[in-house]
Amino acid sequence: SGRRRVSIFGATGSIGVNTVDLLTRQGGAQAYEVVALTGAGNIALLAEQARALKAQVAVTADPARLDDLRAALAGSGVEAAAGPQALIAAAERPADWVMSAIVGSAGLAPGLAAARNGGTLALANKESLVCAGQLLIETCRAHGTRLLPVDSEHSAIFQALQGEDRGGIERLLLTASGGPFRTRSRDEMAAMTPAQAMAHPNWSMGVRISIDSATMFNKALEMIEAQVLFGVTPDQIEVVVHPQSIIHSMIGFRDGAIIAQMGPADMRGAIGFALNWPERRPLPVDRLDFAALSRLDFEAEDPVRFPALRLAREVMAAGGLAGAVFNAAKEAALDAFLAGRIGFLDMAALVEAALDALGPEAAAAREGISLDDVMGYDRRTRRFGEDWVARQG
Ligand code: NDP
Ligand code: MG
Repeated sequence: SGRRRVSIFGATGSIGVNTVDLLTRQGGAQAYEVVALTGAGNIALLAEQARALKAQVAVTADPARLDDLRAALAGSGVEAAAGPQALIAAAERPADWVMSAIVGSAGLAPGLAAARNGGTLALANKESLVCAGQLLIETCRAHGTRLLPVDSEHSAIFQALQGEDRGGIERLLLTASGGPFRTRSRDEMAAMTPAQAMAHPNWSMGVRISIDSATMFNKALEMIEAQVLFGVTPDQIEVVVHPQSIIHSMIGFRDGAIIAQMGPADMRGAIGFALNWPERRPLPVDRLDFAALSRLDFEAEDPVRFPALRLAREVMAAGGLAGAVFNAAKEAALDAFLAGRIGFLDMAALVEAALDALGPEAAAAREGISLDDVMGYDRRTRRFGEDWVARQG
């Protein structure tokens, strides 16, 4: 049949659920041949999605949940599988369009496997570009796989670039909401809890990226993501705080013109763009009412309260696998903060300490970088983070 073959990695997450919503609205199993759907802990939702979309296989990342998944899929005709190897095997099944929306560096191995398949890789998992940007880009290039950004800022830049020559780019202006602590003092920030850090003012997202928005590590990852995706130099990337999150990002061209992409803060815009590209189909997002908006505000970034942006610039200048250390340190810091073991501001301190300790060595890695090299730094950095946290107590 002529149905498009699609897979979603991280189907049970915030991006995954929005992707399933769009596939369902655009005809579901009648319009798409759903190859693989994956999740981790949320077995009930994964099974429900797999049944509704008649997926070939549903995979949980957690091997201990295989029996639960089998039971939830009984009689459905959907295969069940579990564990990191099963995720990679699912990514090796041919598909025309794959959404990479697992959270964290756990998304790298399945993303790379999907990149070897040809077709289109819609990339929400920014961590894979931060920790292994060159490897992922080169793998896509070698296999003729088209990489489409899903992160709203990078989708915005990609949209503003349509019909333009990359050589005309002077700078990329990444907009940042500033998160829930945009107007808090450093002292106030020091006392913030995970629940407070999760309360993003504009976007509804997974827990981890919401907290990354509060520290602005999310924007830091996105700076590196932009460097890799658009081939610009670090000094061509600027961050503008824009509290309303209406402008999703902008390109400044050499002649002084700026092209901005706007829309409501609804990820179905960027996901739908990547799903339907190069077409634009109707999407279930609100239409902007400029009279009701009345104003858009802009502020400079504050490097004192948000050291993440400075650290990202250091990582971009260092190159090599410094990004793998940066991302893993950030993930370790977030785990410790969520567990109540370190405070909000300690997250940036941990990342900086990890970069001091492991960054120079990782930055020296240049040629012939493999997935094992990346995951080696990932593991060593997480161990460093564990020791750092233990020393704080
Ligand atoms: P969520 O936490 O909502 O979802 C994460 C998904 O990954 C879930 O399906 C989860 O399964 C699965 N998962 C968790 N741990 C593992 C693991 N170790 N191995 C395999 N799968 C795992 O995240 P989001 O949807 O918010 O974010 C997904 C990615 O998209 C991230 O990289 C994020 O930075 C990026 N992104 C998200 C945006 C958003 O609006 N949410 C915006 C821009 C980028 P389960 O839930 O079943 O446990
Ligand atoms: Mg973003």
